[in-house]
Amino acid sequence: PATAPAFAVARATTPRPAEERAAVLAALASSGGFGEVFTDHMARITWSTDAGWSGHRVEPYAPLELDPAAAVLHYGQEIFEGLKAYRHPDGSVWTFRPQANAERFARSARRLALPELPVADFIGSLEALVAVDEAWVPGAPETSLYLRPFMIASEAFLGVRPARRIDYLVIASPVGPYFKAGLAPVSIWVERDQRRAGPGGTGAAKCMGNYAASLAAQQVAYSRGCEQVCFLDGDENLEELGGMNVVLVLADGTAVTPALGTILAGVTRDSVLTILRDAGHRVVERAVPLAEVRAGLADGTVREVFACGTGAVVSPIGRLVGEDFDLPVADGGIGPVTAAVRRELTDVQHGRAADTRGWMHPL
Ligand code: PMP
Repeated sequence: PATAPAFAVARATTPRPAEERAAVLAALASSGGFGEVFTDHMARITWSTDAGWSGHRVEPYAPLELDPAAAVLHYGQEIFEGLKAYRHPDGSVWTFRPQANAERFARSARRLALPELPVADFIGSLEALVAVDEAWVPGAPETSLYLRPFMIASEAFLGVRPARRIDYLVIASPVGPYFKAGLAPVSIWVERDQRRAGPGGTGAAKCMGNYAASLAAQQVAYSRGCEQVCFLDGDENLEELGGMNVVLVLADGTAVTPALGTILAGVTRDSVLTILRDAGHRVVERAVPLAEVRAGLADGTVREVFACGTGAVVSPIGRLVGEDFDLPVADGGIGPVTAAVRRELTDVQHGRAADTRGWMHPL
């Protein structure tokens, strides 16, 4: 594979003092906060129609200087990614399947008429940023440094056309558990009125508009005492949560998950399905009608439901709630398949088990 140009490094003159950083990292395991603190630097590459990708650099973390007419602020021409850096017991730092995120970023770019960032530049930007901010990678169990690559249309221009000036950046945030409750099963609100995607839309791309479109439904979920929303497609099939894919485990051990199309192709989803297949489970990717899920929860055919994504890894779902139903998943606890998949995946990510599939990439 091609190698990325070297990243020029301009170090922060006033990085956070080491004691302050240590206090932030020490609080992670218990705080449950996600994406609230950022490291001292960010990586950046710029693109223009004339010069292509250039100016690879790591610079002090700082507010962006953006023209009020920047296209991203008006037409939402933006894409992003999310992955994590893990500190292994021997002190080394690794990330998980970055090639998969780089390829998805390129697919998202095509859908949003943004320039594709070469895979080598994507992975090189993670390596360059983590090299400078390595001390920010926490080491406590279930903590990591969340990496957020994103690309924005920064050209100042109010006409509606693809921008000719683009900024790609990577910021990083040390994180603990995604949900306040940690590993406790979460309740899911099944949203019937608001949809986040449709055929031919941007559901499979990781672009800001999808998330903006999910927020009002998330408010409904909170008001109903649920942590997350599950969206449906136009035919009342389960799609995905606001930031996670969803998997059901049936009584016969079959794992069922919504087929790709209008949902995000989660790297965790793909990894979980591989782990399940390797463990001997039948894995089926197909339409998953809400009616079938409700009947299966009521008669015990559906034994476990879990959500999966980079942030929350594998999270048990204990309850599905809708306008006219409120169904526990089995006894509302953590199912054995969910627990086993979560353990296998997190053991590989955190370096507690051998990486037999070549998923880990050293940073
Ligand atoms: N669906 C949506 C809408 C998401 O935002 C995410 C998080 N990126 C996922 C699924 C899970 O994807 P991944 O496993 O790659 O984090």
